[in-house]
Amino acid sequence: MNEYDFDLVIVGAGPAGSSAAFAASSEGVSVALLEKEEAVAETVRTSGVTWIEDAKEFGIPEACYNPISNYSFCSPTKSVTISDEKPKAVVLDVRKTYRHLAEEAQNSGTKLFVNTNVIEIVTDNNKPVGVIAKVSESQVKFNAKMVIDCSGFQSVVVKSLGLAEQWGRFGAGAEYEVKAENVQSDTWWLMVGQEYSPAGYAWIFPVSKDTVRIGVGVGKPESDVDPTERLDKLIEEKKGPIKDLGDITKIEFHYGLIPNDGLSRKTVYDNLILVGDSAGQANPLVLEGIRYAIRFGRVAGRTAANAIKSGDTTQKSLEPYEKNWKKAIESKINSASKIQNRWIGLTDEEWEKELEVISELSADEFLDFIRADFSVSSIVRLATHHPKLAVRQLFNIVKGSQ
Ligand SMILES: Cc1cc2nc3c(=O)[nH]c(=O)nc-3n(C[C@H](O)[C@H](O)[C@H](O)COP(=O)(O)OP(=O)(O)OC[C@H]3O[C@@H](n4cnc5c(N)ncnc54)[C@H](O)[C@@H]3O)c2cc1C
Repeated sequence: MNEYDFDLVIVGAGPAGSSAAFAASSEGVSVALLEKEEAVAETVRTSGVTWIEDAKEFGIPEACYNPISNYSFCSPTKSVTISDEKPKAVVLDVRKTYRHLAEEAQNSGTKLFVNTNVIEIVTDNNKPVGVIAKVSESQVKFNAKMVIDCSGFQSVVVKSLGLAEQWGRFGAGAEYEVKAENVQSDTWWLMVGQEYSPAGYAWIFPVSKDTVRIGVGVGKPESDVDPTERLDKLIEEKKGPIKDLGDITKIEFHYGLIPNDGLSRKTVYDNLILVGDSAGQANPLVLEGIRYAIRFGRVAGRTAANAIKSGDTTQKSLEPYEKNWKKAIESKINSASKIQNRWIGLTDEEWEKELEVISELSADEFLDFIRADFSVSSIVRLATHHPKLAVRQLFNIVKGSQ
């Protein structure tokens, strides 16, 4: 068996893995980034919405995204559009963005191994000290001082070590990227109510002037609806704003799963860190995790490099990583989970009322809400002083869990 020695092995070259690799190799440790597919982002499993502020902070080139400034919501009977002066959301060219992140890691010294499927974790006294990967028909061993699990929903490292079970609650999403006749490239649609998704939502996210992603997400185990079947039906029947797209031609199908079990996993062990979907780091309101994967991937990479350089990769020396991400998002995610629990059970009539509440929000309030970036002062203001009782009630839910 071929064998390699690295300081750090990172499993999975999604946004979490490439960002962790970039940060760790920038700190001067040797990093192997292992990806099972033939190329980074060969399969797209996400719709790629994120926020312009984060994209700029992460240095993602403008050519990688399409800006959004109108946020439309519809239920079967009502629609609301919140318009902003400047775009604050973006829809990523996922392949271009993920490849950019992986290139950044390689430019800082990371060695990327594609077509390298991690199948076993090498341990010493139950602590990971490397991995075995299948490369074509042979096996390759990667020895390391520590491992970062960035394998996404599959969480291959932590599950192989028996430290976590498969996610019990998750979202399943299906999406077509399509060429469409009429695209409003600065406007997204979120479509809610039973016919769109009995536990989740459907969406239209514009990627460019002539291309959009139309998708359906369904919460599991809350609903047994198959998102692909529901998506095909919505497109065939040209439901709601899908009709306004005119003629459409499907160009690519995307399918993926995202954990929705809250922040239930421990994310540091001796010689091991979990980041991104393997750690369950996603905003549960709209199940978006890309910016957390990048942000905390970088924190994990730096923490791992410092631990390796200090010669102490025990759980204790990796704890600053867990403290960092918990401080940044734990209370926000808990608040967003409460709203999600309210949303998941709404009838069409209740959605109609919820859209009335949403239409009362300014663009900034709406975006803070949907991003789960609740600032305490704005929550208190909305929960206490907003003229509409329903808005006060909604924000009291958030306030109660901060
Ligand atoms: C349908 C859908 C829509 C979504 N839409 C959005 C959105 O609009 N905005 C947003 O922010 N988030 C969205 N998300 C969530 C987002 O995609 C994830 O939070 C994000 O991709 C997490 O990044 P990651 O690097 O942790 O995992 P991933 O992106 O899943 O990357 C994991 C990588 O590990 C590799 N891998 C897995 N197993 C192995 C193995 N054994 N050996 C080697 N490599 C392996 C995989 O091939 C993959 O490249 C969506 C998710 C789904 C399912």
